Amino acid sequence: MFKRILVANRGEIALRIFRACREMGIETVAIFSEADRGAVYLDLADEAYCVGPPRTTDSYLKIDRVISAAEIGDVQAIHPGYGFLAENAHFAEICRSCKIEFIGPSHEAMQLVGDKNAARSLAKKADVPTVPGSDGLVDNEVQALAVAHDIGFPVLIKASAGGGGRGMRVASNDLALKSALQQAKAEADAAFGNGDIYIEKYVAHPRHVEVQILADTHGNAVHLWERDCTMQRRYQKLLEESPAPQLAPQTRQAICEAAVHLVKAADYTNAGTVEFIVDPDGHYYFIELNARIQVEHPVTEMITGIDLIKAQILIAAGEPLPFKQEAIESRGVAIECRINAEDPERGFRPCPGKITQVISPGGPGVRFDSHIHAGYEISSFYDSLIGKLIVHQPTRQEAIGCMRRALGELRIEGVKTTTALLLKILEHSDFVEGRVDTTFIERTWPS
Ligand code: ADP
Repeated sequence: MFKRILVANRGEIALRIFRACREMGIETVAIFSEADRGAVYLDLADEAYCVGPPRTTDSYLKIDRVISAAEIGDVQAIHPGYGFLAENAHFAEICRSCKIEFIGPSHEAMQLVGDKNAARSLAKKADVPTVPGSDGLVDNEVQALAVAHDIGFPVLIKASAGGGGRGMRVASNDLALKSALQQAKAEADAAFGNGDIYIEKYVAHPRHVEVQILADTHGNAVHLWERDCTMQRRYQKLLEESPAPQLAPQTRQAICEAAVHLVKAADYTNAGTVEFIVDPDGHYYFIELNARIQVEHPVTEMITGIDLIKAQILIAAGEPLPFKQEAIESRGVAIECRINAEDPERGFRPCPGKITQVISPGGPGVRFDSHIHAGYEISSFYDSLIGKLIVHQPTRQEAIGCMRRALGELRIEGVKTTTALLLKILEHSDFVEGRVDTTFIERTWPS
């Protein structure tokens, strides 16, 4: 087992990993940028090294500095968290060449699934349903128009290297498709240095259902059930829950089994998430495989009782999975709300600044994963996620009641947050009845 691990991340997920390591008796080495210097959550690591100025490209994304910190800290492994270097196959390969274990899949598997077009081809080959669309990449207008006429408008243009909804454009006719194609290519090129795109049918009123998987290096792979992440704004998740409401038991079983089948076909190891969209008739389609721990992983931890960060560490250390599929039960209902320092009244503009007061919710079935405190300065350089509020209760109705109560208790002063919007969602009859799709937020509150 590892004696020391470097956590190549910041904020709530860095803290989450420090906590798991502390419980496992593993020492941690933190890294921080100049903007995060002195942050209180860093005290929970055993050592911490500055890796550069605030800009992510000068610090958290700077591979040579992260590796130097790992060498100086004398660690045996690096946990990348999510974002930053988590899905950078080049980084995973460098770790391996420096004889440092990368806590995640092999760089080969990461490279394969990180190319969404290649992952789509793999799913097709493995007989996992994919959204009707182009057979591979689309290079030009003529090709794009032919695909769109074949599958029918509206279509969705997607970046092969995509993530975070960037490089994604919907088009409803020939003219729109031509301009969307150029925009999507340019956006993907700017964001990922790769302008490759492909086309999918735009599925109307879908739900987003994803499956958590774990696979060890001995050929064992299991699923830990699904999460419903339908509540989104501009393809960004706001609230996640498990089990997925309104999902027929046989569809649930089929999606979870398809996810395991796919990760085995990809020779994928460690934790991963297989994402699907489900149409109103219950047809499901694979969209991508995320090669990392997800923001919303606590939802799965609550319903299964399995600590996913500890599982990731054990798998990276070469341990076989300590449980069989039959032993992984889905118990009760868990909901997570993402608390962002953003102003929903002003187009979700980030609200950096000093937090003057924090009162965290508590009580039965409540978990608050966050690195903030009174006096914490939210930097404008990073993501606006400042905490995740998770509840776990026997039924969905009780979970909704518990989340409303917990959101009511949560007080964060000094900056604007998404808390009030989350409460509005939890009080909306469509949400309570489980009748939402990915367009719910934009349709319900267009302004
Ligand atoms: P990214 O990698 O940028 O996050 P994804 O492929 O995971 O992009 O898709 C993000 C979201 O976009 C999904 O959760 C869903 O809401 C929406 N989406 C993706 N593909 C489709 C599709 N073919 N039709 C309708 N909505 C889609």
